[in-house]
Amino acid sequence: MNIQRCPYDATPIEAMGYSGGSFLLTCSACGAEWEAHNTLVRRVTPPDWDAVRASREGAVTSTTPPPPS
Ligand SMILES: [Zn+2]
Repeated sequence: MNIQRCPYDATPIEAMGYSGGSFLLTCSACGAEWEAHNTLVRRVTPPDWDAVRASREGAVTSTTPPPPS
């Protein structure tokens, strides 16, 4: 498995070199972080859901109705 885009907001993820042959993947939009070890990807920091929502609303400018209140 190889993450190239954030599964939450589809932002391209930056991979940084990490010790021991691992990589630290960071989403600049929502702040989520993953550790990648060969084929194993483990999330280490959960996303900022407010940022995810804002990113999605910014990307999708169509007629998405607001949730009923
Ligand atoms: Zn993200």
